[in-house]
Amino acid sequence: MLLLGAPGAGKGTQAQVLMAEFAIPQISTGDLLRANIASGTELGLKAKGLMSQGQFVDDETVNSMVAERLTHSDAARGYILDGFPRTLPQADWLDQHLASAGSTQEAALPVPLVLPVIAVSINVAYDQLLQRITGRRTCPACNRSYNVYSQPPLKPGICDVEGAALQQRPDDTEAVFAERMKTFNAQTAPVIDHYRRKGRFEEVDGDQPVEVVTAAIKAALRRLRGQEVPA
Ligand code: AMP
Repeated sequence: MLLLGAPGAGKGTQAQVLMAEFAIPQISTGDLLRANIASGTELGLKAKGLMSQGQFVDDETVNSMVAERLTHSDAARGYILDGFPRTLPQADWLDQHLASAGSTQEAALPVPLVLPVIAVSINVAYDQLLQRITGRRTCPACNRSYNVYSQPPLKPGICDVEGAALQQRPDDTEAVFAERMKTFNAQTAPVIDHYRRKGRFEEVDGDQPVEVVTAAIKAALRRLRGQEVPA
């Protein structure tokens, strides 16, 4: 399943809820890149400057990172892609990657296991996105997300669960957000159109409480899964 939407639309928050519910992993390219930055890999060094300016990391790098992650055994039953694909070449790569995985399986199995992608776009107005991004704080220990305006922790600056000091992402400032929105409109909006045209696509209003958005995504999933042709 793909979760599409602008920075701050709630892709990560929703992916975490759905991951627990469907017992499939959330694969966030932003998290994978930040993990590379934290551990000082070559990829991380390359990504750091681009990310701090709201620019995308190049398609080839991100595609190979995703390809590697998809080989992990926890992704065998399915996965939620959060923040990928973000460009048309990434979407084309994913379409081909899944088609070739499907044909390999079809040769080996009586029932194909790779089902077509389900894409859900979470839509949120610009001002709300800005408030979510600039207010976002994350726990470095458990990755839980808070918002100083709408969902503050019990003690300011401290994770309710882990007691760790909350962090603000360096790209969650107003200036970098404006750049990220420009990049989103130029490069990711066409990806959303790509999946809209392809079908198995739904849009949900993300300008609602988290649980209402989750319920809307699950309703969309039920409708989309109803389109699956029985094997
Ligand atoms: P996110 O955590 O999804 O908001 O991503 C943070 C930043 O990581 C983005 O602004 C990009 O710089 C980079 N990034 C994440 N996913 C991708 C992707 N699919 N393609 C290129 N760059 C990405």
